[in-house]
Amino acid sequence: MKSQAILVAIIIVAFALFSNNLKAQQHRNCGTMEYLQHQIQQDSTIVQRLVDQEAAITNWKKNAHQEKSIIRIPVVFHVIWSMNVHNISDAQVYSQLDVLSADYRRFNADTANTPNDFDSLAADIEIEFCIAHQDPNGNWTDGITRTQSNKSAFDMSTDEAKFTSLGGHDAWDANYYLNIWVVPAIVENGMGGILGYAQFPGGNNATDGVVIGYKYLGTMGTATAPFNQGRTATHEVGHWLSLYHIWGDDNGGCWGTDYVDDTPNQASYNYDCPTHPHTSCSNSGDMFMNYMDYTDDNCMNMFTYGQKARMLATMDSLRLSLKTSGRCQANAIGENKEQIKFNLYPSPASDIVKLEWNFITNEKFLEVRILDLSGRVIESMHIPTAYNTAEINVTNFKSGLYIIQIQNSAQIGYKKLLIQHQ
Ligand SMILES: [Zn+2]
Repeated sequence: MKSQAILVAIIIVAFALFSNNLKAQQHRNCGTMEYLQHQIQQDSTIVQRLVDQEAAITNWKKNAHQEKSIIRIPVVFHVIWSMNVHNISDAQVYSQLDVLSADYRRFNADTANTPNDFDSLAADIEIEFCIAHQDPNGNWTDGITRTQSNKSAFDMSTDEAKFTSLGGHDAWDANYYLNIWVVPAIVENGMGGILGYAQFPGGNNATDGVVIGYKYLGTMGTATAPFNQGRTATHEVGHWLSLYHIWGDDNGGCWGTDYVDDTPNQASYNYDCPTHPHTSCSNSGDMFMNYMDYTDDNCMNMFTYGQKARMLATMDSLRLSLKTSGRCQANAIGENKEQIKFNLYPSPASDIVKLEWNFITNEKFLEVRILDLSGRVIESMHIPTAYNTAEINVTNFKSGLYIIQIQNSAQIGYKKLLIQHQ
């Protein structure tokens, strides 16, 4: 009961705090706790589900977890736009994916900024993120949906971004995908200033995922300082994996908790980028460089082992189906397709690569795709089947290893290609 009482109090206080912060345009402002409040108003059983989830996490922590396999979570980005500027580039979307994987593997370039006294607490979460390459119908996808909408602001309490009927885009099955909606602006009661919001595990599948404003996604294009390093998504995905704000959402008190043992007790959120140590609640320094604080993107650089335990426990409970989703790999779509063989030469190549095949198909065209090793399509072309051969000019490709994929609706084949320029 104590746990439940604290949780309810945190949610109520967070709502008051959030309401005061709506005008803080240049400061981080996450809508997640406010959004949770809305969801509880509509379905009070959510509180019990959150309490149950705390029990599941506590139980998980009691057991030994020796397995060292990296979890890969398939992501679909739903880009909703009303003006061209909102329709951000593939490259900007992919730059966000790179930040997520780097931050959750602690491969981020700014780990050196973690203070020495927190360095031993900083964890590799052992979760990576990949673009979904299989859509809910089993068809190949580049993992990005694009929707032109007549709305330029998307209400958080009614989740407009998440429904085609409300001007957004319906979620892909949250059992198999992390849905990230990118919208022109998020508003609440007509007021903006919200960078993003997430749904905690255990909620409705139709609204599960993360919503982020187009100015706060990725590291290029429309991403705007001080939120142009992709950390809004890192923070929101933390909520999506059961993390609470590091200060415990108690509006400056010292009684709130993030249910994590190795994060210092902290009075309130930090804005901008303080100088370490910035102390509160008799701690020896707030962990303001934690992704779950409110500091600027270039100030954040770590999760802790305690946070890792919560996230992995969540992957083993409410988000278990994502561990075996299989929607990451481009070749996952080949499961129901006939495997085909083709020849490719030369490899290594520096200019023209020739493909040859002689399998039988009734279809008039084959699609040839060049993928990088993370499964991104670098180039694709449609080749008349009758030719039995194709040429690809790789003169402008960077040296490195690529995957060449040939497919039609029923057949698929792969080969590796090494491109090596002198
Ligand atoms: Zn947040």
